[in-house]
Amino acid sequence: MAGTAGARTVRAPHGGDLTCRGWAQEAALRMLMNNLDPDVAERPEDLVVYGGNGRAARSWRDFDAIVATLRRLADDETMLVQSGRAVAVFRTHEWAPRVLISNAMIVPEWATLEEFRRLEDAGLTMFGQMTAGSWAYIGSQGILQSTFETFAAVADRRFGGTLAGTLTVTAGLGGMGGAQPLAITMNGGVVLCLEVDQAKIDRRMRLGYLDAQADDLDHALAVALAAKDQRRALSIGLRANAAEVLPEIVSRDVPVDIATDQTSAHDPLLYAVPGLSERETADLRANDPRTYVLRARASMADHVRALSALHDRGTEVFEYGNGIRVEADLGGFKRAFDFPGFIAAYIRPLFCEAKGHCRWIALSGDPADIAVIDAAMLEEFADNQSVTRWLRLAARHVRVQGLPARTCMLGYGERARAGKVINDLVRDGKVRAPVAIGREHLDSGSVASPYRETEGMLDGSDAIADWPVLNALLNASSGATWVGVQHGGGTGIGRSVHTGMVVIADGTPLAALRVDRVMTNDPGSGVVRHADAGYPRAVEFAAEQGIWTPSLSVEAGKGTP
Ligand code: NAD
Repeated sequence: MAGTAGARTVRAPHGGDLTCRGWAQEAALRMLMNNLDPDVAERPEDLVVYGGNGRAARSWRDFDAIVATLRRLADDETMLVQSGRAVAVFRTHEWAPRVLISNAMIVPEWATLEEFRRLEDAGLTMFGQMTAGSWAYIGSQGILQSTFETFAAVADRRFGGTLAGTLTVTAGLGGMGGAQPLAITMNGGVVLCLEVDQAKIDRRMRLGYLDAQADDLDHALAVALAAKDQRRALSIGLRANAAEVLPEIVSRDVPVDIATDQTSAHDPLLYAVPGLSERETADLRANDPRTYVLRARASMADHVRALSALHDRGTEVFEYGNGIRVEADLGGFKRAFDFPGFIAAYIRPLFCEAKGHCRWIALSGDPADIAVIDAAMLEEFADNQSVTRWLRLAARHVRVQGLPARTCMLGYGERARAGKVINDLVRDGKVRAPVAIGREHLDSGSVASPYRETEGMLDGSDAIADWPVLNALLNASSGATWVGVQHGGGTGIGRSVHTGMVVIADGTPLAALRVDRVMTNDPGSGVVRHADAGYPRAVEFAAEQGIWTPSLSVEAGKGTP
């Protein structure tokens, strides 16, 4: 277990001076430290970045060893990180990644939560969640656009293009879930967020993601329904357990238009069981985890039963990527899969063109660099309304958390253009230091997750995990600065394999090539994954873009290409 031994406050160095031997190593060091910045991480003393138990390093000693290694690492060396521990450095070459990461990978027959915990307790592994273990987390803003676009898709499908005049009820105000209130108000809606932990409610209010807090359910509903009637955007936090309060909301017949959830359901030990005090919760988790898990699953069954009752009444309901349906099913509620996951419901068509969320991070620490990049992107993508609308909204609403960063949803072709814009700005000295470019693991070619990104694939290939592995190998071969392969992020151990990558734009001609290859091939693998599954738009798009897909040519009877 990581524990807090050696814990201290960590923040990434700012400015244009190197503390490592090159910008690639410096970028890895700054991003690792940024993951643990108290303004960014949810529980930095425990090395937990977000997602319940998603860590950046296995222990503080391991953190120190990684930092010391990055400081010495040469431009033709690669550090291997096995579940948050620097295990080796090998001589490779200049184009190779400086860091290769594998987190929480377990042989499939052993890939159960119980065995993972045994290995974690023995100090042999670490849960990396998604961007925590691959050093690309940037705070709740990292998921903000994705959450914004998901709710925009709901607005388009059901509510005439806006959430004005609608009420959403959700739960969980953690690292990812904390983006929900702002994403919903940015779409014009009213949202009630249930959260058991007062500190999380306070944090979201402090960071500008949540507008107000209610004293109790009556108060929350009165304020929410008044704002809904006035078509006024408002987010309200309520300290409450969703398994207890959502059934109450159902029994009161509250007119809920949209309902979802982002509690940490992917690991039942992290889901709060109603009726237990903080102390009883801690005791039961530590001393009788089996009983805790049974009680958490029963509570999740109550929670999902309430979501399902809302769905039956016509409320728009979807799972928001935390595996709560399968946990509720294990807890005895057999209609848990009556409502869909959000990728299958809203995002898959975007994945066919590899539209997903990139992020760029100003390693200088200077927000002015992000403003310069915003201006250049507004020019480059002037004819793309979704990009320009987002960049303007983000500049207005997103506060700096740790190293200044921006996310942007871009597809195949667009990502390479964005990478070039950024590398040129660094080359021309228009920004103060190099820029790290990465993405969510929740992307079109980088993940196999049958309860989320690959739920209900057209050809039934939901559980095929070759795709993320190929994506990681391709990124490493294309010039990514670091690549991570991970297991269990999002919906939990045994339920996903996914990969992350970061490539550094340092303005050099070599970076121009590496950025171009990575920002082309990474999304390209997503187009191919969806074309291979038979999605007509992906097949057509791959052909339009000239992506070489031998198997599709053979299948189409065009012979061997
Ligand atoms: P987190 O651990 O930071 O926050 C979870 C929050 O849920 C905590 O604040 C906790 O107090 C609260 N909570 C737990 N049980 C509750 C209950 N019964 N009622 C009310 N509140 C409760 O996690 P996070 O980073 O916000 O991620 C949330 C979930 O989403 C995780 O399961 C994660 O794996 C998943 N996830 C989603 C996405 C996405 O794009 N939607 C991406 C990555 C991960």
